[in-house]
Amino acid sequence: MKNIKQSWAEPYKIKMVELLKMTTPAQRKKAMQEAGYNTFLLKSEDVYIDLLTDSGTSAMSDRQWAGMMMGDEAYAGSRNFYHLEAVVKEVYGYKYLIPTHQGRGAENILSKILIKKGDIIPGNMYFTTTRLHQELAGGKFEDIIIDEAHDPENEFPFKGNIDLNKLEKLIKKHGANKIPYVSMATSVNMAGGQPISIKNLKELRVLTKKHGIKVIHDMTRVAENAYFIQQKEKGYQNKTIKAIVKEICSLTDGATMSAKKDALVNIGGFLAVNDWDVFEEARNMVVVYEGLHTYGGLAGRDMEAMAIGIGESVSDDHIKARVGQVIYLGEKMMAYNVPIVKPIGGHGIFVDAKKFLPHIKQEQFPAQTLAAEIYLDAGVRTMERGVVSAGRKANGKNYFPKLELVRFTIPRRVYTQAHMDVIAESAARVYERRNTIKGMKMIYEPKYLRFFQAKFEKL
Ligand SMILES: *Cc1c(COP(=O)(O)O)cnc(C)c1O
Repeated sequence: MKNIKQSWAEPYKIKMVELLKMTTPAQRKKAMQEAGYNTFLLKSEDVYIDLLTDSGTSAMSDRQWAGMMMGDEAYAGSRNFYHLEAVVKEVYGYKYLIPTHQGRGAENILSKILIKKGDIIPGNMYFTTTRLHQELAGGKFEDIIIDEAHDPENEFPFKGNIDLNKLEKLIKKHGANKIPYVSMATSVNMAGGQPISIKNLKELRVLTKKHGIKVIHDMTRVAENAYFIQQKEKGYQNKTIKAIVKEICSLTDGATMSAKKDALVNIGGFLAVNDWDVFEEARNMVVVYEGLHTYGGLAGRDMEAMAIGIGESVSDDHIKARVGQVIYLGEKMMAYNVPIVKPIGGHGIFVDAKKFLPHIKQEQFPAQTLAAEIYLDAGVRTMERGVVSAGRKANGKNYFPKLELVRFTIPRRVYTQAHMDVIAESAARVYERRNTIKGMKMIYEPKYLRFFQAKFEKL
């Protein structure tokens, strides 16, 4: 008996289901053409398995839904705000909380407060909305993630780590007074959900302290990062996810949070800081952009669901099953030889479109093309994370990122193992006919965050 492995399984059971529409190939072809080959422009109704994003797509628990009924919808001083504030302090350890409607609301306020024109913001790989707010505030983002992160084949377990030499060079070149903070993300989204280690964070803390530079934590997927630390970092095997999450946060000065990911809600976010002066300014500014500082664009019920979701998100059983499902899908895809980013990250599988479609040049959008083909095959919706998402530089030229990926993002607590099988089989079928697939050209390009609304045509 001792050779039989113990599988992960869901630490919950299903008590309500949402019926899905099954589509024919002809229906999908029509839908994809109408959407300009951009999966963001598909109607959700036409999608069978929706892996566009893990943002706001989680299934809430019965406890969270019960919390929704306990909303205190007072304009000021809602009971739910004080509950959320207490949970953020208890679970993450940050002193002061400003709720916002979602993550980018917090990024906007924080960037406006901390960044002056001409400042440099080093970070472990860019994220779309984060970098845009840094740029709109007059800053310039500089990537200081380790080189391994740009290599989809490299199996280093902490590809979210910061290269401290790159940071030191930037400090030398520009001076510490030009660097208000380091923008540090846990579970680096654009690198494939890759974690940063505690060891690296501790070294970062020492270096930034020496130069009086803050560390601001994009903590959107901090619990998933903590899981990889527990599994892979020396000395952390017997620590709980909750303890690791708190330790990560303790090595930083403040955080922006999109609670639509880790924290298991459909809407919500916050800014949390330890510095009273920054808090004071943020509390003034949130009134302009989001709402009063005790609701920040959220209903009381949303804050209650978030407070409960945060508690559930740091449970060891939850996170083991959450990441376990992602790993199950990744291993299944590898068995079909589909090229994916390794090691498998926390929130989804990132397929390497450059390797999948080597005959399509980056100018012809291989990842965008592949996402469209995946949808056509079985109605699985994924998204591009490559040259379209990277956008244009200030001089108008395209960024050409090394990574050209299609993201299969897994919503939390939503799909079953049978769904994972269907997804992997669909990717494998498209891989079989990869040589027949042609690239695309862009026929409409919006000015900001173009990946959301751009349109394409088959070549
Ligand atoms: C989603 C996300 C954001 C932005 O949050 P929104 O809630 O979508 O505004 C910021 N950083 C990372 C890493 C994210 O994944």
